[in-house]
Amino acid sequence: MLTTMTDLNQTLFNRAARVIPGGVNSPVRAFRAVGGTPRFVQRAQGAYFWDANGQKYIDYIGSWGPMILGHGNPVVLEAVQKAALDGFSFGAPTEREIELAEEILKHVPSMEMVRLVSSGTEAGMSALRLARGATGRSKIIKFEGCYHGHADALLVKAGSGLATFGNPTSAGVPPEVVQHTLVLEYNNVAQLEEAFQLHGKELACVMIEPIAGNMNFVRASVPFMKRCRELCTEYGALFVFDEVMTGFRVALGSAQSVYAQLIPGFQPDITVLGKVIGGGMPLAAFGGPRAIMQQLAPTGPVYQAGTLSGNPVATACGLATLKEIAKPGFWDSLSARTHSLVHGLSAAAAKAGVPFSADCQGGMFGFFLLPELPQNYAKVMTSDSPKFNKLFHGLLDRGVYIAPALYEAGFVSAAHTEADIAQTVAAAAEVFAQL
Ligand SMILES: *Cc1c(COP(=O)(O)O)cnc(C)c1O
Repeated sequence: MLTTMTDLNQTLFNRAARVIPGGVNSPVRAFRAVGGTPRFVQRAQGAYFWDANGQKYIDYIGSWGPMILGHGNPVVLEAVQKAALDGFSFGAPTEREIELAEEILKHVPSMEMVRLVSSGTEAGMSALRLARGATGRSKIIKFEGCYHGHADALLVKAGSGLATFGNPTSAGVPPEVVQHTLVLEYNNVAQLEEAFQLHGKELACVMIEPIAGNMNFVRASVPFMKRCRELCTEYGALFVFDEVMTGFRVALGSAQSVYAQLIPGFQPDITVLGKVIGGGMPLAAFGGPRAIMQQLAPTGPVYQAGTLSGNPVATACGLATLKEIAKPGFWDSLSARTHSLVHGLSAAAAKAGVPFSADCQGGMFGFFLLPELPQNYAKVMTSDSPKFNKLFHGLLDRGVYIAPALYEAGFVSAAHTEADIAQTVAAAAEVFAQL
């Protein structure tokens, strides 16, 4: 059909590329990993969106996680419309900020206080400053393949050894700025222990994605998580959970509640949230114990601020979203839907003889064109990239939109029906047969 018609996505992309670097406002949207033209979204409803050509897609990105209720949920929409009528932004406090803070704390008991900000990057960067301010230490540990937003100190790849610190992964980040950031392999207990032996007393924090969604979907193993917690406690470093993606997405109590079931009494010190807590609006947060949070300005010496922080329209959207996902039965049904997708895809791949492994939790999933689930970034990167690109475009041509890169997780919403899942699995079966 498109051969006789102008591709309006291409027209828009050409126009965008003249005024916006790469034609996009966030790099992965550009389809550079998979090739082809990004779809320009015209509108979205429920589990679907429509592109500039009017083509309909089943959406498994959901704005990279926030749209857990699907697009245009009527309850959320009404809350946003009402809030907008009362004013967009005041630069003065509102009651709804308290309500959202209370709702977050109710479900994530490791946090006694929370500060609202506008993006996950901002939240992660502020949490890092807080950890350094509260401990009086400079060094930090992060793990290869985990993304914590694009703050300078966190755009780092591993150095040549444990004694050396990281190298910037972006131009414009001076080496001096990352000289305190140590990058370790995810799920490597021995390396973690060695790093603590060398640097433990100078460490402000260990920052981790508990289920890493920025290298597709890789769980921190229970022994690894346990050892991170023990070492942080022993050496007085803070354990920072970056749950921007997993928060209110893998469970109502977030990933930390999943680990608390496996490791009795388990809690992180600081939690970073974003994505779902804004329900699609720019909103993020970080929180922890009262004594640590009170180190923040205006009560403490760690400076942190934001003109649009706790924005009244964004908080209305987030609050309505969190209240909907706290309703009885929500998580059972979302998890069942996600499982059914993952099982369907696995069965289809097996039938076609395509190496495949997949995992999921709550409304988040990941799959690899590998026979076994990888445990770290190096293993994730052995996934077959040309094959993934074929799968991506095969699905896209059949009206199924998954992340345009093999190192990204996927998301199922409450609006996805069993029929959507069945259609997706049928499309995947056709593509697998051609791989
Ligand atoms: C998305 C994400 C971020 C960054 O959030 P932005 O809102 O894009 O700045 C940070 N950490 C994790 C784990 C994320 O998934």
